[in-house]
Amino acid sequence: YEHVKAQDPAIFELMEAELKRQQDHLELIASENFVSEAVLDCMGSHLTNKYAEGLPRRRYYGGCEFVDGIEQLCIDRACELFKADHANVQAHSGAQANTAVYFALLEPGDTVMGMSLDQGGHLTHGSKVNLSGKYYNFVSYGVDPETEMIDYVELENLVKEHQPKLLVAGASAYPRTIDFEKIGRICHENNVIFMVDMAHIAGLVAAGLHPSPVPFADVVTTTTHKTLRGPRGGLILCKADYAKKIDKAVFPGIQGGPLMHIIAAKAVAFKEALSPEFVEYQKQVIANAKALAQGLQDRGFRIVSGGTDNHLLLVDVSAVGMTGKEADAILEQVNITANKNTIPFDKESPFVTSGVRVGTPAITTRGLQTEDMDIIATVFEKALIKGDILGAKEDVAGLTAKYPLYPDMLK
Ligand code: PLP
Repeated sequence: YEHVKAQDPAIFELMEAELKRQQDHLELIASENFVSEAVLDCMGSHLTNKYAEGLPRRRYYGGCEFVDGIEQLCIDRACELFKADHANVQAHSGAQANTAVYFALLEPGDTVMGMSLDQGGHLTHGSKVNLSGKYYNFVSYGVDPETEMIDYVELENLVKEHQPKLLVAGASAYPRTIDFEKIGRICHENNVIFMVDMAHIAGLVAAGLHPSPVPFADVVTTTTHKTLRGPRGGLILCKADYAKKIDKAVFPGIQGGPLMHIIAAKAVAFKEALSPEFVEYQKQVIANAKALAQGLQDRGFRIVSGGTDNHLLLVDVSAVGMTGKEADAILEQVNITANKNTIPFDKESPFVTSGVRVGTPAITTRGLQTEDMDIIATVFEKALIKGDILGAKEDVAGLTAKYPLYPDMLK
């Protein structure tokens, strides 16, 4: 980005500083990843110049013959990757994708069910501060206090009691496999539309390492930038019967022109996700998460639900006499980026919390292996239990030096 350097040094300097931060820190935010240079190329390209309201071959603007080809490839690859009937690739983000589905299938005031935010759900699954919670009557389901896993019996009872029009499954901070088949059966026996937001686990689903919701759900939404490792964006998959409604809800329902540079980047990411290397990558994401959970347990940390089946774990730091907020701040001092997170039935407020959410997608993209997880567990022990900040920081520096990120971009 030498043009930025010449034209806008203030922005250039901040971009450089952010690159260095990404290179020097261990990125453990479960929703982040590092995209390929091919994906970056698309995002920073001339495709951003093009208006293309509408769908391929049915546009409201001229000059769309080439972007039509890009969007059609993107749609076809999304359908192939997830074995879906229909894909809309235009949602600008995960929140936009969810809002489009609600706009397509619900009326204001309808009753809807979603996973409670403080037990792992997302803001767009009915939080009062989000459009979903303001426009629709959301009823929350959650986890069993003993197992800290989704309570499917309670979920079924709530469906029978409240008779929602739609139920959303999926989560932002749930470390276990979600039984989409079971929830789908409950929904369809009770005449409820079944929507899955697989944003966090989409990469695992694409690789066949988490059961796919696509055969069981009426509509599936996802972000494209988490485990799926594409550009920041959204994607909606649905059964053929819902295709027209979904497409119309995205545009003209809630959005204007699609971001063609991002759609090209999504297409490239889907091609990458169809490769055997991507399956190996996702296997390593899970192996790393399991090894990290074990390493932390061995050092006295409590892991919510006793472990993980996917790419993330929730560390209950109250077991070592700390709040999530304190732990987050200390980890930052040793160049680990994670985020404080409520744990189920948390006694602390959402601003303080008792947990830290830790994910392995980004460090696995960097190349970290199973044996490196023990080093990270030691870093947690040094930083959060022993107060050895310097030692912990040195260990992190050893790992970031061993596995360089975007080495060609280093100035
Ligand atoms: N859905 C889930 C489950 C998420 O975890 C997130 C983001 O963290 C979103 C939706 C929202 O995605 P975005 O930030 O792209 O709007």
